[in-house]
Amino acid sequence: MASLEHAHPFEASLADIDPEISAAIDSELARQRSTLDLVASESVPPRAVLEAQGSILTAKYADGYPGQRTYDTCEWIDEIESLAIGRAKAVFGAGHANVQPYSGASANAAVLHALCEPGDVVLGFDFAHGGHPTQCDKETFAGRYYRAFAYHVRRGDRLVDMDEVEMLARAHRPKVLFAGWSCYTRHLDFARFREIADEVGAALVVDMAHFAGLVAAKVHPDPVPFADACTMTVHKTLGGARGGAILCRAELAERVDAAVYPGEQGCPLPHVIAAKAVTFKLAGTEAFRERMRRTLEGARAIAEALVEAEERTGASVVTGGTDVHQLLVDLAPSGREAWATLRRLNEIGISANAVSLAYDRLAEPACSGLRFGATALASRGFDREQFGEVGRIVADALANGGEDPDGSLAGRVAELTSEMSLYRYLD
Ligand SMILES: *Cc1c(COP(=O)(O)O)cnc(C)c1O
Repeated sequence: MASLEHAHPFEASLADIDPEISAAIDSELARQRSTLDLVASESVPPRAVLEAQGSILTAKYADGYPGQRTYDTCEWIDEIESLAIGRAKAVFGAGHANVQPYSGASANAAVLHALCEPGDVVLGFDFAHGGHPTQCDKETFAGRYYRAFAYHVRRGDRLVDMDEVEMLARAHRPKVLFAGWSCYTRHLDFARFREIADEVGAALVVDMAHFAGLVAAKVHPDPVPFADACTMTVHKTLGGARGGAILCRAELAERVDAAVYPGEQGCPLPHVIAAKAVTFKLAGTEAFRERMRRTLEGARAIAEALVEAEERTGASVVTGGTDVHQLLVDLAPSGREAWATLRRLNEIGISANAVSLAYDRLAEPACSGLRFGATALASRGFDREQFGEVGRIVADALANGGEDPDGSLAGRVAELTSEMSLYRYLD
């Protein structure tokens, strides 16, 4: 504290300048360290990504693209953005990449801006059935500025109803057909989506916000050859910088770039673009592929533990398992509500998501679904065996409605979190 008087305010540390924010960050670090993070959209950003994202690049204005800026002195930003673009194209085998979208939502807005006129028809995956609101929800730009229609999962097997996709596409002839999900655990049939898009003259946009890391690691079917454009986040399974990106066929490069800037955004975030470049570099390494394989193994191990415990827990694993980094659990057979259950899981040190499931018997905000993902714990180093124990802890908790009267579940969580350090370099 005393140093505030001596140091120039620009050189004083965060702890000196702003003890409240600094203490809150320290508390959040302690929370992350002591929590089993099963939030499927979260990961652990590598130190190199955090260094780039917290760097002096934050100062720079650089509207435009490499070689075509409306500001001078952008030579280093050009270098950084060109590296990010080249690495994204290489990792995904894409014709063109735009690394400026501020988020996955901004990437979807920009793609619609690039491929549609206001009022054009868009067909996306219903939010309540596993899609993302920015594909066709009435509350978002997708539903406000476009004529948006939604497809669903089948009641029986909870898989995307491709016959409905085809029927809606024929009936409404969308300009953009979205394929991609937030709450779904099986592979999509990209070839069938492509056929349907071709039949009705739609552009196929694969919203791979959740599974981009799996695609980069080649442990998931590759949508890039089928899609006109792919949108993604860089911080979910890719595990890096906080933001979005777009891949597209080379012929669409100009339209996509113009839609991002100046269409939807102002100046890009140079510090975040640098961190994206680092993320794409790491995504091309064997260490990353190993982590993604371990992520899939982890999700499967948790799913297996929960399937085994179904009679005890009264909670069923949706579709009986998973092909990806996350799984969905339906609490309906147990009669329990997801938010109440999640709060009890939080108390023993587990974080996850309460979600509405397709055909949920409860009305929002109450819901029956829990979503568990393995990305963050795999980034933290968890192996198959540890994921098995995570699954057994979750199963034991669900069998008890989340209650932990003797503290033994919290003890098992603490054992795992203390065994597996997090951000050790910050000590
Ligand atoms: C997370 C997500 C988004 C939005 O990404 P943000 O960075 O949170 O804006 C878009 N689409 C899908 C399918 C997602 O899962």
